[in-house]
Order: sequence, then structure tokens, then C-alpha cells
Amino acid sequence: MATSTTRSVILVKNGRVYDHAGDVHLPPIADLLIVDGIIAAARAGIAAAVGRGETLVELGTRAIDQTIDATDKLLMPGFVNAHYHSHDVLLKGCFETIPLELWLLSALPPSYPKRSTAEIRARTLVGALECLRSGMTTVQDLATIYPFDEEHLEALLQAYEDIGIRCVFALQFADMAGAKSIPFWEEVVPPEQRGALAGAVEPFQGVDLPKLLRDIVASQRRRHPRISLALGPTSPERCTPKLLGKLAELSDSEKLPVYTHIYESRAMTLIARQTHAAQDEGSLISYLKRVGLLTPRMNLAHSVWMLPAEIDSIAEAGAHIVLNPVGNLKTRSGVAPIRTYLRKGLRPALGCDNCSCSDAQNMFQSMKLFAGLAAVSQPELGPPTAADAIWSATVGGARTAGLEGQIGALRPGMAADLSIIDLTDPSFVPLNSVARQIVFTEAGRGVETVIVDGRVVIADRKVTTIDERALREEVADLMKVLRRDVEAVAKRTDALLPYLMEAQRKTWQVDIGLNRYIGNGND
Ligand SMILES: [Zn+2]
Repeated sequence: MATSTTRSVILVKNGRVYDHAGDVHLPPIADLLIVDGIIAAARAGIAAAVGRGETLVELGTRAIDQTIDATDKLLMPGFVNAHYHSHDVLLKGCFETIPLELWLLSALPPSYPKRSTAEIRARTLVGALECLRSGMTTVQDLATIYPFDEEHLEALLQAYEDIGIRCVFALQFADMAGAKSIPFWEEVVPPEQRGALAGAVEPFQGVDLPKLLRDIVASQRRRHPRISLALGPTSPERCTPKLLGKLAELSDSEKLPVYTHIYESRAMTLIARQTHAAQDEGSLISYLKRVGLLTPRMNLAHSVWMLPAEIDSIAEAGAHIVLNPVGNLKTRSGVAPIRTYLRKGLRPALGCDNCSCSDAQNMFQSMKLFAGLAAVSQPELGPPTAADAIWSATVGGARTAGLEGQIGALRPGMAADLSIIDLTDPSFVPLNSVARQIVFTEAGRGVETVIVDGRVVIADRKVTTIDERALREEVADLMKVLRRDVEAVAKRTDALLPYLMEAQRKTWQVDIGLNRYIGNGND
């Protein structure tokens, strides 16, 4: 099954090459030599030397297979989508800005009938395609396959392999019912309607989770150099200490990153205060520490409602924060304490989260909001700068993927994961600052070429690895069934709406020791 990295030599000539440590406003013009998927050289004069027939040490006796003219273009390190889920790709545009808990019920797989293998493949491809088109070369997919099916897992991984994006895959799971981990749900919903709450994250039935995870690691970990594995407990409050303890052992022995959602919403914070009061002083960070998961391999997605003392513990442990500003706004979840994280030395990675709570897989949106939202609670001048946002979207993401030093920068020895962006697009005319115009002006329109692992997967804005038209037609066909299911789920959720909103209001009334909204809640 495993195939080696693309064996070819590509010369990208005469482009501005973005270097985090160099002039981020006007990166110098240089050439990039890619040999067998690795950046062999990044400097000016390579193309000229080749033109003169000189022998390059980095090239040896190899010939150049492809030359890409990057005149008036920018070479950017590929973005790392550090928090993403492929399971609801086909639900983009289905929801307004509804509260997180309501969205969980409406969008997550346990609410839906089992999907077809064809749908799993198609949605994985569409999501990966959207990522690639906006310059992402790595996606960290925390995917729910519910009910679990080996064939679905296989189809998902094969889709990533086929389209050619780099993927860190983590199966998402929990071993406690979602309804139990959302404040007041069981209290306010009448017993005869509680069955409908099952959609909010359900444990797999009849599956030995630790064994399944060990088996996946053993069978898939060397599948392809572009695909690596991680562990994905959906959120600490939905997992038992026993399960999390086993994950800590597996993460440690196999050196696997762990992704989890934490304090995304006010409700997820209140439940910690309610259910973890005795042993963990109401803190999920203390809980993670107790079970051995607060380590440099832990990636805490969202981290919106985090207390100052918890931020200190995270910094001390060397764990990472992954912010998803677009999804947080769309699910009415509040704004993360960006400036506090930066002040305490935590440099977050950035994600685009689900397709039905974001709804775009677009790192330009995430970077712009990351930079802008820091000002919501802090009018004083200060970070993050545009270059900080780019660092978070690349190197920051690489750290959470366990791929630091391999992806995220265009340096010799690093993997050739990059995008080539048109600097003649109005976004860059005039060119005052590459870093600032990437973060504050560009929206993805200028992304022309994307190279992953030394392979051109987007050329002239078109994907080279799959038949995009056939995929579109297949999705149209699959939507005939999915649309019916979406309607049925919406009907069921609508019937629960008065109760769910009552639970929300009760949640808002309890003091949880911090606030991540602005204003007084009335405007
Ligand atoms: Zn998520």
C-alpha cells in the first residue's frame, strides 16, 4: 500500500520566497529547487546556474523535470489546517449562527443514519479540495465515523492519499453520552423526548475503543508518508478517566499527537464546574493533567473559556492551543483570550473547524480574525502582527501535527509543501507588505498553484489528482439522500428547541468565574 514520496525535480524560479525570519514585507526574489519532495535549495541564482549548464551540488546528476515560472508571484509555506472535521463537509450552508449545543445536535454524525462509503469518500475529497484551493497543504482531520466501520475508515484515508494533501488523521470518539455532558439537557427535556438528544456525540456501541485505536495505529501508521495518525478524544468531559489514561499511555508509547475540544462554549465550561468539582476543582485542564494527557503532544482546540491559572498550567506543560475564530463566532461561543495566550508564551495554531460551523476552509479568514479579535478585549497596541498570524497558520500548525521542522517553512531540508500566489491580483496592487496583504487583504483568490510533498496538486487553480467534475456530479447525486436526512434531523431538533434554549438560558445564568462575550448580552 505504501508508496514513496514523489520522485521528481521541480524548479520554481524567480518568485518572492516567504521566510518567517527574513523580510516578511518584501521577501527577496529567489528560486526554489525541489528534489523528491524535499526543498533542496532556496536562494537566488539557481535557475541562472542551471541555464549556464553548471552542476549544482543539490541536484547532482538529476535533471529538472518541471520548471514553474513564479515571476510576479509569491511562494508561501503551505498552511496547516490545525483543526478540521471531514464528517460534515456536505452540510456547509445548512445552518445560521446557532449556539454550539444546538449545532451539535443538527450536524454531528450520530444524529444521522449511517452514510454510504461513496459519501464518505466524496465528502473527504470535497473538503480536502477546498483546503488545497486556499493554500492549505496539511489538514488535521478529527473525523467521526459513526457507527464505526472499517470500510469507511479505509475510504477516508484512501481519499486523502488520492487527492494528495498531507493529513494527520484522528478518529474522534467519546465513551460517555453527549446528553450527559451538556448542562441541564436531561433536566429540561421531557423523558419521552430524550432519545432525540442522542445526536450530540455518542459512544460507539460494542467497540473496545483502546483496542480499536491500537489496531488503527498498527495497521495504518506507515500507510503513506503523507498520512500520519493522532488520537482524538472529542472533549475531556465526554471521556472517562480510564479511557483518557489509556490514551495517555498510547500517545506516549507511540509518540502520537492528541487533539481534543476544550472550553469551546460556556456550557462546556459550566459542565466542568459541575462534574469535575470534587477531584479537579472544576477544571478540565486539571483533569487532563491528572490522567497524564497534559503534555507537549496535547493540542487544545478552541480554548475560549480558559482561566488564567489554567493558561499557566498549559504553558508549563508545553501543550498547544489551536484557535478557530470563525467557528467560535458562528456558534456564538465567544472570543478566546488571544493576548493572554501570547503574553504567556503560547503561540496558537489556527484551524477552520467544521464545514457547517465555519463554513469555509479558508486560512486567510482565520488569520485575519485571529489578528483582529485580539483587539476585542485589548485596545493597546501589540501582537499578533500579520507575520505572527502567518507563523501560527504554518509553523504553529506544524508543531501541533508533530511535524515541526518538516513542514511550515520554505527552507532546505523541509518538505516541499507550498502555495504560489499571484501578486498581480488586486489584493497585492500596490505591494506594500506581503505579510499584511496576505493576512488583511487576500482571501484566497490569488492561490494559483499548490505543491504538496513535491507534487503539483493544484495547477492554474485546478486540481490535478482527481476528476473534479465527476466529483461534483457524484455529490449532487449523494445529496438526494442526504438532503432528506438533513430535513428529518432539523424537524427532530426543532421539536426540542424550546427545551434546548431553556437549557442555554439556565447555562448563561450560572457564574462560571469568567466571561468571553463582550457587552451585557442585550445588544
Ligand atoms: Zn472541532
